[in-house]
Amino acid sequence: MVVAYHPPPTMSASHTANGSGAPDQNPYHVALTQYDRAVRYLNLKDNTVEYMRYPHREFTVNFPVVRDNGKLEMFTGYRVHHSTVLGPSKGGIRYSTAVSLDEIRALAMWMTWKCALAGIPYGGAKGGVVVDPKTLSLRELEALTRRYAAELVPFIGPKSDIPAPDMGTNAQIMAWIMDTYSMTMGYSVPAVVTGKPLNIGGSLGRNEATGRGVIACMIEALKRHDMNDPEDVSLVIQGFGNVGSNAAAYAHSLGFKIVGVSDVYGGIHNPHGLDIPALRNYVAETGGVRGFGGADDISNDNLLTLSCDVLIPAAMEGQISEENAPYIRAEIIVEGANGPTTPEADDILNDRGVHIVPDILANAGGVIVSYFEWVQDLQAFFWDVGDIYTRLEKQMQHAYRSTEATAEEYNVDMRTAAQMLGIRRVAEAFETRGVYP
Ligand code: NAD
Repeated sequence: MVVAYHPPPTMSASHTANGSGAPDQNPYHVALTQYDRAVRYLNLKDNTVEYMRYPHREFTVNFPVVRDNGKLEMFTGYRVHHSTVLGPSKGGIRYSTAVSLDEIRALAMWMTWKCALAGIPYGGAKGGVVVDPKTLSLRELEALTRRYAAELVPFIGPKSDIPAPDMGTNAQIMAWIMDTYSMTMGYSVPAVVTGKPLNIGGSLGRNEATGRGVIACMIEALKRHDMNDPEDVSLVIQGFGNVGSNAAAYAHSLGFKIVGVSDVYGGIHNPHGLDIPALRNYVAETGGVRGFGGADDISNDNLLTLSCDVLIPAAMEGQISEENAPYIRAEIIVEGANGPTTPEADDILNDRGVHIVPDILANAGGVIVSYFEWVQDLQAFFWDVGDIYTRLEKQMQHAYRSTEATAEEYNVDMRTAAQMLGIRRVAEAFETRGVYP
């Protein structure tokens, strides 16, 4: 069954993550297009299909922050709960000037399918503030975070909606959200956020989890291509933040050769492989990868089309489009970022036989260990890192293999298969619960 394209009335075609007004680059349009592709293969009731394509709740807030110079500035923040069918909603908070309501809606919808695919009892959510955090002092960043968190208090909670870090946010920002929420409640509530510092109830392994899960998926995909010797496998990684740098570090420790990486300022390339621990120190000192010794500086556009076996986009949406898809030379793409490939690029790459491990599968390691963190907080009983990595790897492998089996059974690409598995689980739970009232 094909459902007509039917976005909520405010869907914007002009405010997109990459500043382009083209509808194929609006992340929410991308998310809905992927949804429509996946439900075609599922024998679901029309009512269920219609229900799941809408975000459940959307919250927009305009709030003040007094800058260090004494001037009041207004900021806009969002939180979208796409689904609470399988449990409390879960999803990161993003600080970026590219944040828009449509971007947050898309990311919330992807969280719903990702949690369901990973088999964890959560729905999907996402939040964001339109701000470049690098332009704020530490005091301003704390003030912005605490005010946004205070505005979110009615919508978040350990039983209702649990934020986590995403682009532009980190463990310290989660600590300020946790503290603001706890001060309002009158007691400490560590389980209200995940990705917190260890000393206030964070989990070992959470910081590394997404990057590690990306590499676990890559290893599964490489088996399919009989590429089993890490030394013979070259990787290019776009984005060197939490996901990209941890994926690089783990892959490097396993013996894989990382030949190119980039961040928002540009990229570097060395066909013989980069010394990732030294690069991480360099980035900690200088704030970027460019200028790293023993590598050539290149542009982000050139990075994506470098010769390599595996390309890992780990920055943001819409990076692989119909413009650059024909020139991508990797055999395998493992999506560390959410929504890095447009549906048009998907078609081009699938036709060319490029094996794409989709975002909701490849980057699920973050939410899986976030789930472990939440369970540990609720039980006030903490696990060692070995237990966490073993369980993470098992859950990632299970999700990967179920997706591959679905792709083979229905003769569809891995993205459609992953979405089908996630969507089907939510649909079944929705039908079991029924429509209230
Ligand atoms: P981050 O802020 O830690 O890092 C983002 C990196 O991307 C930085 O190096 C930044 O310089 C770079 N970047 C930004 N725009 C770029 C551009 N146009 N070109 C090249 N590089 C660019 O963010 P993160 O947490 O690593 O998240 C990256 C992606 O992974 C996002 O799509 C996020 O939604 C997704 N993700 C993150 C997690 C997590 O646990 N952090 C989990 C799942 C998915």
